[in-house]
Amino acid sequence: MRTLLTCWVWGSLVAAAVAQGSGHSPQHGIRPERLLIRNTMVIRGNGNPATGPTDVLVTGRTIDKIGKVSADESPDVVIDGTGKYVIPGLINMHGHLQESRAGRAMPVEYQLSLWLASGITTVRDLGSDFRRALRIREQTASGELEGPQIFLYPFLSSRRTPEAMREQIQEWAKLGCDGVKLYSLDRDLLEAAVQEAKKWKLPTTIHMGVEETTAWDVARLGLTSLEHWYGVPDAALDGLQKFPSDFSYSNEIHRFRWAGRLWREANPEKLDAVLDAMVAAGVCWDPTLAIYEASRDLVRAQHKPWFREHLHPALERFFEPNLNSHGSYFIGWTNTDEVYWKENYRIWMKALRAFADKGGVVCTGEDAGFIYVMYGFGLIREMELHEESGFSTLEVLSHATRNGAQVLGVGAERGQIRPGYRADLAVVNGNPLENLRVLYPTGTDVNVEGRPVRSGGVEWTIKDGIPYHGPTLMSTVREIVRDARAQDEEAPTGG
Ligand SMILES: [Zn+2]
Repeated sequence: MRTLLTCWVWGSLVAAAVAQGSGHSPQHGIRPERLLIRNTMVIRGNGNPATGPTDVLVTGRTIDKIGKVSADESPDVVIDGTGKYVIPGLINMHGHLQESRAGRAMPVEYQLSLWLASGITTVRDLGSDFRRALRIREQTASGELEGPQIFLYPFLSSRRTPEAMREQIQEWAKLGCDGVKLYSLDRDLLEAAVQEAKKWKLPTTIHMGVEETTAWDVARLGLTSLEHWYGVPDAALDGLQKFPSDFSYSNEIHRFRWAGRLWREANPEKLDAVLDAMVAAGVCWDPTLAIYEASRDLVRAQHKPWFREHLHPALERFFEPNLNSHGSYFIGWTNTDEVYWKENYRIWMKALRAFADKGGVVCTGEDAGFIYVMYGFGLIREMELHEESGFSTLEVLSHATRNGAQVLGVGAERGQIRPGYRADLAVVNGNPLENLRVLYPTGTDVNVEGRPVRSGGVEWTIKDGIPYHGPTLMSTVREIVRDARAQDEEAPTGG
C-alpha cells in the first residue's frame, strides 16, 4: 500500500491517480480481474508498426482493449508502461523439458523461470519424458507451477515397421499430445507416421538426419514444419555429400565438422526449387540458428556473461566437451572448422531469407540445454540471428510471436496483441525494435550520455492473464544456482 502524504502536491497526485482509476501494482503469480498497462508503446506482433503511447486493458485471461482507458473502466491492477514496450508473449518453438543434465538433478523451476523471465509464454516441447511432461503441462496451465504453456510433441524415431509407427502415434494421441516430432526416418516409416498424425489432426515437425529422405519428402508429405536445417541442403545436392573415407556418422566430431561443409555443396538452382516446394506445401521452418553457433565461434559460446550467476552446475557439466553428452563435440575444434561453419551460416541464412521472401513461414526455437545454450537466453539470441539473416527487428518479433502461434495451429487466439486474444504479453524495459538485446532477462548496457548504463530486461511477463515479475524470477534462478553450487562444494569429490 502506498502511504498517503500530507504534502498537497503528493495529495493531488494521488487524487489524480485515483481519479484515473489507478490500482495496485500486480502481485507476482496472481491473476487480477482487470489489469491495465498504462501509457505504453505496443507492438502487435503481426508486422504492424508500433503504436502508442496508449493503454492495454486485460480482463481475466483476455486482452480486452488497446487504447485510452477511462476512469470508469477502473482496473484493480496497474502497470506503469511509461518508456516501456508491450509485445505478445514470445513463443519458443523448440524446447525440451529437462530435469537433469549429465546425470545431475536440476529443478524444473530453473528452466521454467528462465523461460518466463525471457518473456516466453508458450513453449513447444519437442521431446522429453512424455508422462512427466504431461503433468508439467497441466501444472503450468493451472498456474500451480510458474511457467509458460507447454505444447507437447513427443519424439518419434524409427520403429521396426510402419504399423509400429502408427501404433505409437495412436497411443500418444489418446494420452493427449499436441503434435508429433519425427526424427531421422526411412521413407516408408516417415510416410506412415505423417499419415497417421494427419488422421488424428496432429501437426508434425521433423529433425532430419543425413539419410534417404530430404526436404523433398517433407514437402511431398506435407509436414507442418521442419526443425534446424538438415534435409534442406541435402535436397539440393548433386548426388550425395562428399565425406572423407574414414567418416563415421556416429562420431559427433565427424558429424558436426562435416555438417559445417554441407551448405556449400548445395546446388543453388536445386536449392531454390526445394524452397519453392516447401513454401507451396505450407511447410514452416524453425531454423534454430542459435544452437549451432558454438561451431562458428566457440569462445563466444563458452564465455557468455550470464553464465557467472545463472548457469546451473548440471548444465555446466553437460556442456563440457565429452562425446557422451549430445552436442558436446568440441574436442580439437579448429579455426578451420569455424571458418567453414561461418560460410555454412551465410548460405543457410540466405536460404532462410529467400524462403520467407517466397512466402514461407519462419518461426523461432532455441533447443536450449545443449551446446552452451541456456533456456530463454537462447531464444533471444535466436532472434538476433534472424536479424543477422536479413530480417528487420519488426519481422523478427513476428517470427517469435504470430508465426509461432500459426505453426502451433492457435493463431486465431494467441501470438498477437489484439482484443479477444489470450493475455500472453511481455512488458519490456526499452524498445526491442531498436535493440533486441533489451529482451535478455539480464538486460543490456545502453548509452546514457556517453556512459554505459544497465537497462532493458522483461519487467513483467503476463501469461494467460497472470503477471510474473521478471527480476523476481531471475532472483529465484540465482538462488537455485547458488544452492546447487553450494551442494557441490559440500559433497565429497569422487575419485
Ligand atoms: Zn531439440
